[in-house]
Amino acid sequence: MLIVMDKSAGPDELAAVVERIEKYGWQPKPIPGGERTAIGVLRNKGPIDPALFLDMPGVRDVIPVSKPYKLVSREMHPDNTVIKLGEGNEALEIGQGRLVLMAGPCAVESESQALEIAHAVKEAGAKIFRGGAFKPRSSPYSFQGLGVKGLEILAKVREETGLFIVTEATDHEVLDVVEEYTDIIQIGTRNMQNYRLLRRAGQAKKPILLKRGMWATMDEFLMAAEYIMSEGNSQVMLCERGIRTFTRHSRNTLDINAIPYMRSESHLPIVVDPSHAAGRRDQVIPLARAAAATGVDGLIVEVHNHPEKALSDGPQSLYPEQFSRMVEGLKTMNVAL
Ligand code: PEP
Ligand code: MN
Repeated sequence: MLIVMDKSAGPDELAAVVERIEKYGWQPKPIPGGERTAIGVLRNKGPIDPALFLDMPGVRDVIPVSKPYKLVSREMHPDNTVIKLGEGNEALEIGQGRLVLMAGPCAVESESQALEIAHAVKEAGAKIFRGGAFKPRSSPYSFQGLGVKGLEILAKVREETGLFIVTEATDHEVLDVVEEYTDIIQIGTRNMQNYRLLRRAGQAKKPILLKRGMWATMDEFLMAAEYIMSEGNSQVMLCERGIRTFTRHSRNTLDINAIPYMRSESHLPIVVDPSHAAGRRDQVIPLARAAAATGVDGLIVEVHNHPEKALSDGPQSLYPEQFSRMVEGLKTMNVAL
């Protein structure tokens, strides 16, 4: 339930509502707005009688929230969430109407590899560098990432190029060190229902890029985001990266339908990963264009300077020139970059 306060409501009136919510054993969640404050009511077991609050001074309206994912839902927060990285001239906003490009290799392999790719994607228009230091690989014998050394390389990339960094935390133990180095913490598809990791991400002071489980329904995905938000971190991006279907012509199927659905259900920024959806280079640009046409807030794309030698996901990685062509193509679609 959402309790909407009058524009003129003062701190005492707000405090009284908060106190009454707590008296019933529920959790108040004040949501400051441009004009007025609303207070979400969480952790109630059943429906709440609006009359409990409608008579209180300063209360304008009481709106039932029907969704199980309350903090994530647009019912609770009608305006789009905007995530801000950096300060001053360097600041970057995600979710304010422009398409933010994130690009880089699947895995950080060496300093020279990361820097070469970073310079190329920056030149093409990327604002955020992606690259895994801790890699969740399907085989225990595959390259698992450079670990902390990889994070140090990412820090060097940021220092040399000014690009922001997104990298994955594969479990709650590495999240501490990932949080220290990165600008955005990625939670991967395989971990979307790792609730301990989600809770830890919810305590982080950095934004989270949450990737949809390759098997997950929208309800499960949005509830995973709710786990993060319920711990206090409201800086969450929803990333569609393709789901498992019966097809063999692609690694996964990009669920385009999910994009307008998420837009109407949630206020959180939406990012699309065409690379893991496609699994093959020739499909990445068309999928990126399709996602851009639906008005997503970001794209995260794998780019490698030598994809044939890449230690992971080479077949789906674009060559840097292809990435620049992709960006030029987006401009012809009138997408604001
Ligand atoms: C990745 O971004 O490299 C990755 C492993 O993604 P996902 O979790 O979507 O498979
Ligand atoms: Mn990858």
